[in-house]
Amino acid sequence: MYRIAVVPGDGIGKTVVPAAVRVLESTGLKFDFQHLEAGYEVFKKVGTPVPEEVISRIEETQACLFGATTTPVGVPGYRSAVVTLRKALGLYANVRPARSYPIQRCRKDVDLVVVRENTEGLYSGIEFELEGSAFTIRVITRKASEKIARFAFDLAMKRRKKVTIVTKANIMRKTCGLFRDVSLLVAEDYPEVRVDELFVDVAAMNLVLKPQVFDVILTPNMFGDILSDEAAGLVGGLGMAPSASIGTEYALFEPIHGSAPDIAGKGIANPMAAILSAKMMLDYLGESRLAERVEEAVETVLKEGKILTPDLGGTSTTSEVTEAIIDALEA
Ligand code: NAD
Repeated sequence: MYRIAVVPGDGIGKTVVPAAVRVLESTGLKFDFQHLEAGYEVFKKVGTPVPEEVISRIEETQACLFGATTTPVGVPGYRSAVVTLRKALGLYANVRPARSYPIQRCRKDVDLVVVRENTEGLYSGIEFELEGSAFTIRVITRKASEKIARFAFDLAMKRRKKVTIVTKANIMRKTCGLFRDVSLLVAEDYPEVRVDELFVDVAAMNLVLKPQVFDVILTPNMFGDILSDEAAGLVGGLGMAPSASIGTEYALFEPIHGSAPDIAGKGIANPMAAILSAKMMLDYLGESRLAERVEEAVETVLKEGKILTPDLGGTSTTSEVTEAIIDALEA
């Protein structure tokens, strides 16, 4: 029996997370789901997006399945719920795979993982205004850089053994410079891994021109956030892109998309990113065979091409796609 925190969040999180839970239930494994609330709706009720009690209850579980939360611009006192959770739970590694799936709008040559430092960088949360200017402090520490670099190299050892270090060390000489130096030092412990270096602007272009050259991309927080959405665009869009935020003792799994207010409540959000995030959670729990089966079920539905949500050119609803995936899983 796995004890799992389920936090749908706001908007389409409330649609896609129940879909992923349905798929998990149909694997035959036993789960004790702890249903919890966080996000902007919670903030409006109680003045904080993630109440302390929610964090404590999450800590009592083995992993968390998270949806998405709304982070409106210009609301004083509000801070992204998921950024808060990543910090509170020490989830230092954000892992965002992008790979080709059998659909027309998906590039055929993509199989990469963006490994992004998750707790500092430009998302440090340290911001202030002073005499008509505004500042955001970019924090890069040796300790966090080393942890994320080791994570990326360990992952590369299980894949095609290539790491591309992406920074802007020519301009941000101190922060990116430290991240690069530490990454190259860690690389020395992994002689089998090929190491490549790119500045983030060229990396963004190469992702479009020749995504096949990438295996593991190791990069600080905000660059990884942007490059992973770009990579998602190569393989069908945000509805197809899962992620994991991993710490030494805990992990949280979430689609990389947001709460999508433009389609929230319409029942047409693509649940595949959330379902593939649940697949990553199964891998983390050591249920690799079942994880593979979930991914195969998603691929079957994509290959058949009949039951797809509008973002993939179909006309089906979230629940129809979910049921089709469950049918494929049980077949
Ligand atoms: P978004 O990811 O919510 O949506 C971008 C576009 O992609 C929209 O057109 C949306 O309809 C589409 N889309 C996203 N997921 C989809 C899915 N599963 N199926 C079909 N279409 C999908 O990004 P946004 O519009 O920039 O942000 C909306 C809100 O979400 C903002 O408040 C933002 O701060 C927040 N956000 C939260 C997270 C998170 O919780 N991890 C991540 C990104 C954005």
